[in-house]
Amino acid sequence: MSIKLNSGYEMPLVGFGCWKLDESKATEVVLDAIEVGYKLFDGAQDYGNCEALGKAFAKSSIPREELFITSKLWNSYHHPNHVEEACDKVLKDLGVDYLDLWLIHFPIAQAYVPIDKKYPPGFTCSLSDDKFHFEDVPLLETWKAMESLVKKGKVRSIGISNFSGALIQDLLRGCEIKPAVLQIEHHAYLQQPRLVEYVQSQGIAITAYSSFGPQSFLELKSKKALDTPTLFDHDVIKAIAKAHNKTPAQILLRWTTQRNIAVIPKSNNKKRMIENLEVLDFNLSEEEMKEITKLDLGLRFNDPWDWDKIPIFI
Ligand code: NAD
Repeated sequence: MSIKLNSGYEMPLVGFGCWKLDESKATEVVLDAIEVGYKLFDGAQDYGNCEALGKAFAKSSIPREELFITSKLWNSYHHPNHVEEACDKVLKDLGVDYLDLWLIHFPIAQAYVPIDKKYPPGFTCSLSDDKFHFEDVPLLETWKAMESLVKKGKVRSIGISNFSGALIQDLLRGCEIKPAVLQIEHHAYLQQPRLVEYVQSQGIAITAYSSFGPQSFLELKSKKALDTPTLFDHDVIKAIAKAHNKTPAQILLRWTTQRNIAVIPKSNNKKRMIENLEVLDFNLSEEEMKEITKLDLGLRFNDPWDWDKIPIFI
C-alpha cells in the first residue's frame, strides 16, 4: 500500500527508520529489512550511516527502482550554496544517482561546516566549541535550492520535516514546487490534529516519526520519556491489541496508517521488523480509533527547545 504524492510518485505507507542505526551494524540491519520486504528507507545526513546503507543497497539484489530512499538535508547546509553539495554527498555515500525524497530536516539554518572538516557536523555545527551556531538563511531560499535539485533529476520529490502550520503556509506562498511530504513526530501522545488536517487539506502527505512515543527516546535517557508510561503497556492499546490478536506496536502503527499517514518504525530485530510491516491487513473500528485519539497529551519528545531554547514548536 502506498500514498500518491503530489509529485506523481508513490510512497510506501510503511517504511524502515534508520535513526540510531549504528554505522557498524547498519548494513546488516538494512539487508535484513530488505529481505523481509521493506522498500522505503528513511535516512538522513545527520544519522551518520549513509555509507552503511549504501553498502546494503549495493549488496542486496533489489533493483534501485523498487526502493524508495528518503534522506534529509542537515541544518548546516541550508545556504543555497550548500544544498546541492549536501545532496551530492548523500548520493555518493548511498551509491545512488537520485533520491526518492529529500527533506529539509529541521527549519533551523545553522552555521556551515565544510564536509571535509567534520561530517556529519551534529547539532551544534561547530568545530571549536559545544555551542549552537546559526546562520541567517530564510527557508524559502533553501527551498528554492531544493527545487533546483528536482529540476536536475537528483531528487524526485522534496519535502519538509518538523515544520509548523505557519511555516508551511509561508512556504506554500513562495514555492514553485509544493512540498510532497511533511515528516513530523506523531504518536498517540502527540497527535497534532489541526496540523494533520491542514497539511492533508493542502495535498501534502504526512509521515509520522517516533510512532511508539517515548520508546525511541528511552535509549537517549530522555527524562521526559523515562517519566512517561510506555504506550506498549497502556491499557487501551493492550485491550485493542488483544481484540485483534495483534501486538500493541501493530495497533499503534495501524491507528496511524488507517488515517493515510505513513510510518517508518525502526528496529534491529528481524521478528519486530516483520511485525511492524504487517500492519495493513486489518482495520480498527471507529470506536477503537476514537479511544486512541483520547490518549493525546500534546507530549513532544523531540523538541529543539530542550537543547538550546530553539523556538520551533513554541
Ligand atoms: P520508533 O517509534 O520507530 O521506535 C523505535 C524504538 O521502538 C526502538 O527502541 C525499537 O527497539 C522499538 N521497537 C521497534 N519495533 C518494536 C516492536 N514491534 N515492539 C517493541 N518495540 C519495538 O522511533 P524512531 O526511530 O524515533 O522513529 C522512526 C524513524 O523516524 C527514525 O528511525 C527516523 O528514520 C525517523 N525520525 C525522524 C526524525 C525527524 O526529525 N525527521 C526524528 C526522529 C525519527
